[in-house]
Amino acid sequence: MRVPFLDLAAQLETTRPEIERAVLDVVASGRYVGGPVLESFERAMADYIGVDHAIGVSSGTDALLVSLMVLDVGPGDLVVTTPYSFFATAGAVARLGAIPVFVDIDPRTFNIDPARLADWFEREPERRSRVKAIVPVHLFGQCADMSPMLELAASHGIPVVEDAAQALGARYPGGGANGSSGGAGGSIRGGTSGSRAGRGGSHGDRRAGTMGTLACFSFYPTKNLGAMGDAGLVVTGDPEAAERVRRLRNHGGHAAYRHPEVGGNFRLDTLQAAILAAKLQHLDGWHARRRERAAYYDEHLAIPGVELPAPAWGRDLHTYHQYVIRVADRRDALRQHLAARRIDTMIYYPVPLHRQPCFHHLAHPAGAFPNSEDAASRSLALPIYPELTPAMQDRVIEETDAFLRG
Ligand SMILES: *Cc1c(COP(=O)(O)O)cnc(C)c1O
Repeated sequence: MRVPFLDLAAQLETTRPEIERAVLDVVASGRYVGGPVLESFERAMADYIGVDHAIGVSSGTDALLVSLMVLDVGPGDLVVTTPYSFFATAGAVARLGAIPVFVDIDPRTFNIDPARLADWFEREPERRSRVKAIVPVHLFGQCADMSPMLELAASHGIPVVEDAAQALGARYPGGGANGSSGGAGGSIRGGTSGSRAGRGGSHGDRRAGTMGTLACFSFYPTKNLGAMGDAGLVVTGDPEAAERVRRLRNHGGHAAYRHPEVGGNFRLDTLQAAILAAKLQHLDGWHARRRERAAYYDEHLAIPGVELPAPAWGRDLHTYHQYVIRVADRRDALRQHLAARRIDTMIYYPVPLHRQPCFHHLAHPAGAFPNSEDAASRSLALPIYPELTPAMQDRVIEETDAFLRG
């Protein structure tokens, strides 16, 4: 039995009629850029996430780029983020001429460590005045520890941009009607926007994307909600920021051929919006199935030599975009063992961002961010998706167990 890492063809079998109808409707409409289908998708996303404004853009990468542009990040500015993420998180910073400043992760959660962030602000009084944004990443579908970071950011008047590319639907505990989420400088003018507090979902939890001044999502095909091509989303509670994102995605124009500033073509295709709107109906069901599979792995992979992923806020608040274990010493050998038995795995991420050749000039030696480097050398992502069958999951467990005990 082959166990693919992800099977989008299997997913299509569960959604094909709705998707085909949505695509054909757009084709027939003749409206391929913008239009009511895009607008209704944006409203559906704003409701799902619990924010006032959602703006479709061309990719998660462009969502990050535009969000930083809204905050006027430019040459010489600093943006603090994690070294353990997909490249785009730091790439967007560098593309604006700004400098990514890395703060190491919490070894348990793979997410940026708020205590280390506070340390950096303590230790770097000069450089901290040049910080234009803090960009936590909610890695693998689990929210970073936002409360202490939002407080720190607010105390320095620095906006927070959530990289929620992997975390659509994830939640963070706390909040409620008088949640502290407004504290991060909820608007781009540095004020707080009360309208955002308490809209994060049931049980007083806050949804990924509702906590920062702006937040970025990706609909890359392998994400939990995936387009059939590239697509992304920026969300914000600040009407002024929303207006600016809309402008920047359309060459900085506010009316036809009038350009107060330079933007780009960062628009979301109407076809992708239609496909995503159809798939959004399934998303919560898919998340439930991912959680079931995570619980099953948690139960059956509790074996010597495996460190299980830590659901810091509980499994129900995690969306398990990835299920990432850590293996002492023999990670690569385990991966080969599984591959030889037609079980696909992935390594997220083999090279932390501070060790990328393009950031060589930042001069971070090996060992600069030990928790990220340790994660890079020991983490292994196992297949997890709604269509993964119990028999396939048992194969993964059996062979992992056999290798580690053998
Ligand atoms: C996928 C991803 C992005 C980029 O999204 P694209 O749509 O692929 O451009 C950014 N950050 C993280 C953490 C991601 O996982």
